[in-house]
Amino acid sequence: MSQQRGLLIILSGPSGVGKGTVRAAIFKNNRFNYVYSVSATTRQSRPGEVDGVDYHFVSRETFEQYIKDDALLEYAEYVGNYYGTPIQKIEENLAAGNDVFLEIEVQGALKVRERMPEGIFIFLAPPNLAELESRILGRGTDQPEIIYERMQMAREEIELMQHYDYVVVNDTVENAVEKVNAIIQSEHLKVERVVDRIKADIHDYFQESMTQE
Ligand code: 5GP
Repeated sequence: MSQQRGLLIILSGPSGVGKGTVRAAIFKNNRFNYVYSVSATTRQSRPGEVDGVDYHFVSRETFEQYIKDDALLEYAEYVGNYYGTPIQKIEENLAAGNDVFLEIEVQGALKVRERMPEGIFIFLAPPNLAELESRILGRGTDQPEIIYERMQMAREEIELMQHYDYVVVNDTVENAVEKVNAIIQSEHLKVERVVDRIKADIHDYFQESMTQE
């Protein structure tokens, strides 16, 4: 029987909502063996980040070559740097039956929706905008006018939520992780995903019975 394709899972949401933290918590014990899709980026690595694990850190030239070669499922320019999703590993893993997990910003997620609409799109939302602002402030990296800009952007991004399949409110990291895992588990139980396996079993069972008679 042919291998059941894996699920493509896209975790996305506004800047500051905690996508990276939720993703890190999911992969800390990775109970369901998701394969993380390591993005390429032109930004500098931060202390503790490992090339090939957190990102593929590449030059602008290399990134532009990826674009020309059509090697990216999607890419976006974000705060002056390119970020993109290499397509080859994704295709290989989905074909091998592995669930592939992407953590990307909203514009990129919408591009993936166009190319791979069968993906499972999860929007991570802040409990409320005041909380989002305090999380962005908590990073301590942005000037007041940048914070205002980010909040305006978050407002626009939240309106794009309707293009997703699920919304998970990131009230606590534990709750968000549990909800994301529950969504993926339910998706695996959809009739169209199990029907072939059960039919094949029925087929095998009755063929065997016939030969025994
Ligand atoms: P950071 O620089 O903080 O690691 O990431 C900045 C933003 O880029 C985050 O919102 C992250 O989700 C997003 N991002 C990471 N990889 C990709 C990617 O491959 N494509 C897109 N479109 N966004 C990405």
